[in-house]
Formats: sequence, C-alpha cells, structure tokens
Amino acid sequence: MAEHVIQIENLVKRYKELVALDHLNLTVEEGEVFGLLGPNGSGKTTVISCILALLQFDKGSVRVFGKEMQPDSYDIKRQIGVVLQNVAVFEELTVQENIDYFCGLYIKDKRERKQCVEEAVHFSGLEDFRKFYPKKLSGGLLRRLNIACGIAHKPKLIILDEPTVAVDPQSRNRILEGIQKLNQEGATIIYTSHYMEEVEQICTRIAILDKGRCVATGTKEELKAMIKTGEKIHLEIWELKPEHLEELRRLRHVYQVDYREGMLEIRCSGGKHNLVHILDYLARQEISFGRVYSELPTLNDVFLEITGKELRDSAD
Ligand code: ADP
Ligand code: MG
Repeated sequence: MAEHVIQIENLVKRYKELVALDHLNLTVEEGEVFGLLGPNGSGKTTVISCILALLQFDKGSVRVFGKEMQPDSYDIKRQIGVVLQNVAVFEELTVQENIDYFCGLYIKDKRERKQCVEEAVHFSGLEDFRKFYPKKLSGGLLRRLNIACGIAHKPKLIILDEPTVAVDPQSRNRILEGIQKLNQEGATIIYTSHYMEEVEQICTRIAILDKGRCVATGTKEELKAMIKTGEKIHLEIWELKPEHLEELRRLRHVYQVDYREGMLEIRCSGGKHNLVHILDYLARQEISFGRVYSELPTLNDVFLEITGKELRDSAD
C-alpha cells in the first residue's frame, strides 16, 4: 500500500489552558486537494504549524511522507511548499528577487532556478510586476507573490493557509485555478479556509474542524449525505397563517418550516418532487407566492447540523 502523505494521530495542542487541538486525527493521501474547513479559531493554522514542526505539541504524532516530523527534518521539508496565512516576503526585495530568494533555499543550480522562478512568475500572473517592491502591490497581488514564493521550487506537497482572505475576486479565481493546476501537475495540496464555496470548488476531500476536533471527513457528496437536509425550498409569501405552517410541516419529507419576513424556508429530508407537493398545497389553499427556489444542502448545512452553529462568522 502506498504510504500516506500525512498521517496525524490523536494530536493534542494546548496554549496554556486552551485546548487548540483536541485529539485530532487526519490522513491525507497522494494526489488529493485536501480541504481543512472550519470557522476562525477552529485550529486550522495550529494543525499546519504542527505538520511543519513549527510548533511543539502535547500529545499524538505527525508523520509526513511516512516519517515522524521533527524540527530538523530537512529532507522532508525540502519537499514541502508552504504559503502561510500572514504574508511573509522581504520588503527590500522586488517581486522577482523575492521569488528567487525563496526558490534558492531549495534549488542551487542557477539555470534550473531561473527556469523555476520564471514559471512561478507566469503561474502567479506577476509578469508586469517583476520590478515592484511588495509595498507597491495590491492585496491580491501580494498574496499571489506569497504563493509564488512558496511553490517556485516545485514541491510534492503544498500547504496553503487561507490564501484568499481579503483578496479581490479576480485574484481569488486566479489563485483557486492555480491550485488546481498544481494538483494536476502532481502536487498533493492541503488547503485551509473558512469559505465553504472555495473548499467545495477545489477540494477532493474535506475535513470539517470545530474547536480543534475533526467532526467529519469525506468528499463534499459524502459530507452532505451525512445530514438530514436533502433539499431546502424557499418561497416568497406575503401572508401565511399558523395553521398553514402546521399543515406544510405535515407534508411528506418536510421536517422543518420557518417563516420570517415574508420568506418561507422548508427543509426536506431527501425525497423527490418536494416542490411540486408544496406548490400543490399552496394552490389548493389559494395562497399566492412570489419567488420560488430550491437549494441542495451546502457545507454550511453540514456544519450546522453537526455542531449546531453557523460556519461563517458575521464578518463575512
Ligand atoms: P484558525 O487558524 O482555524 O483560525 P488557530 O489555529 O489560529 O485557528 O487557533 C486555534 C485556537 O488557538 C484559537 O482559539 C486561538 O485563539 C488559539 N491560539 C492560536 N495561537 C495561539 C497562541 N500563540 N497563543 C494562545 N492561543 C492561541
Ligand atoms: Mg488560521
């Protein structure tokens, strides 16, 4: 059997009395785009720091490419590319010089390095900014530089910690497409985010983190199949009586009905033709309605059902 790229067992990390990682288990296989999805403070950055042996942990084990990770595991570290949450580049070096510096930590051969830097510049779309200093770059371009510095040496494993926070949509798309491209070229990716849409878009497997624990793992389809909600139906209705809500609640597959500010939200557990049955009921009662739409469950619904909380914080 092929070895795991990463194997984390019973990992515990405390910051004084705060338990940041609480017996966390995770396995990442070669070729995956593995998503760590969780709200702010759920422990994503702490896991990454433990994987990289940047942080000492209290209990458990972290194996990377089949070997126990240590602060001096340089042979392993050489094969890892890291893009940390806080942008880490040199203010006194230009875009091109920054990429060349980081690439030079791994690749000594000048010609090979030049080639790698060139590819990273193109990969990040920084051709027009080679001579710029970091402080002249927009937030999105700075993030792209941060990524270019982390991946120029063509690592087998790439770890990106929230690389799209506070980035404009154009840079965000470019970053997400770039990550998929790196994966197609053979890299295994670990991607952390608190944006469920991004994780759904690019990750082949996802671990949902809450309070330092992994509460569910699977493909997005598997995660959504774990919960009761199969379909959410929204209807704009100006007036509804309590007895109507009662009767709607009794329709087949319907298990939750909420009516707030003229919007009716009905949650159904699987089943087909839910919308037809609901509209049929409204027609019989001569209740008029406006906009109608049906939604499949999101990863937020998964998070909500498992933890009882919303994934997003109100700041987003
Ligand atoms: P995330 O990356 O998911 O936002 P973190 O791993 O940064 O979460 O944080 C997990 C928990 O650990 C949070 O409650 C955070 O406040 C706490 N924490 C993180 N770093 C430190 C630190 N250096 N000292 C004390 N507490 C910390
Ligand atoms: Mg973080």
